[in-house]
Amino acid sequence: MSDIAKSKVDPRHPDHRPHTAVLTRGFDPSLSVGSARPAVFRSSTYVFSTPEAAEHAFATATGKIAVPEGQRPDLIYSRISHPNAEILEDQIVPLEAGARAAAVFNSGMAAIMTAFFTFGRLDGTIVYTTPLYGGTTGLIHQFLGPLHMKGIAVASGDTAGLDAAIAAAPNCCMVYLETPANPTLTMTDIERASAAAARHPDRPMVIVDNTFLGPAFQHPLNLGAHLVLYSATKYLAGFSDMLAGIALANDPEIIQTLRNRRVMFGNILQPDECWMLDSRLPTVGLRMNRQSKNAQRLAEALHGHAKLHRVIYPTLFEDGEQIRIFKKQCDFPGGVFSLDFKGGKPAAFDFLRNLKIARNAVSLGGVESLVCHPKTTTHSGMTVQELAESGVTDGLVRVSAGTEDWRDLLADFEQALAAC
Ligand SMILES: *Cc1c(COP(=O)(O)O)cnc(C)c1O
Repeated sequence: MSDIAKSKVDPRHPDHRPHTAVLTRGFDPSLSVGSARPAVFRSSTYVFSTPEAAEHAFATATGKIAVPEGQRPDLIYSRISHPNAEILEDQIVPLEAGARAAAVFNSGMAAIMTAFFTFGRLDGTIVYTTPLYGGTTGLIHQFLGPLHMKGIAVASGDTAGLDAAIAAAPNCCMVYLETPANPTLTMTDIERASAAAARHPDRPMVIVDNTFLGPAFQHPLNLGAHLVLYSATKYLAGFSDMLAGIALANDPEIIQTLRNRRVMFGNILQPDECWMLDSRLPTVGLRMNRQSKNAQRLAEALHGHAKLHRVIYPTLFEDGEQIRIFKKQCDFPGGVFSLDFKGGKPAAFDFLRNLKIARNAVSLGGVESLVCHPKTTTHSGMTVQELAESGVTDGLVRVSAGTEDWRDLLADFEQALAAC
């Protein structure tokens, strides 16, 4: 049984491109009674053929016996690993350019928390861009701060400021980037931040939360980042029906270290969820392409609307530095845009109330369009100063474009705009 989960680049097709490799590697039907798609293995524990096999399994799992690259320790117990996690971890690797290994977690926050607790150091500093996802900001302020890990915030978009903050950070253990920022889509130059980190004597780990544009449109590991994190709850899962997190790296040691922490924390993704997420991987590129095209058509059609101050979307950027980063770093502009209403909060709320297709909910990346008012929901934990600095205004509405026909979405947006 444990053979089913053995990780290997498919020896029959070592050179397959990502959209093929996601379907050909990491799973062998002959080890699963011929099933064309993976089965679900819900067992919590795995039977050893002999006491010697049990001894060997523990020796490989604890690192006493080295496991050759591309192979896995024997299966023991599902908190350590299980076949569906191994299949998912193998199949997702080709989708992230530059990745050689992955680890799955039971939410995006679980992946982020595990990375902080693995690569953070007592009395160390973490340089990070703001705004970050609210849960990540809370983790830095409320949890890591009291543990003497100091966060040093730099406004996203401040390229020179980020260089300077990294250079000046004492005992720097991490540079943590989220680009584009949510909900203003302000971008950070990953390659430049990675170069600044590489010049720092402490060699901080460069971590990128790639949830908004990855894995299809932005490739941090090819730009010098060490670790990419995802809320797979969003585009990777794509249907707003599950929670998951992923970490990917070029260096398998980084991933193995995270997996060892994951055993302690007990936050591996469960078999059923791994199986669901695995089935979504071959379509993530298709969905994200469609969602990006829909968002671009909507954003550009609504640009200049009499009731809007502005439409925030990468193809509509006006700042030269932001245009430079977008062109250099992103293959497509992505499925999220924001509308800034001249009529402030009342107009934004009227707009949300009047939409008939897009639903008023937080989260993003699903095949159904979702809209929310960040200032009173996702970003309500920010201080007045943080809100002002990061451009989260009273009139701002964030839109996550789904896969509906864009003409129906545009008609819906136009009628809701007319009503506010
Ligand atoms: C949603 C989200 C997270 C948190 O992920 P969960 O799966 O909800 O735990 C982290 N970062 C970003 C950018 C997100 O959008």
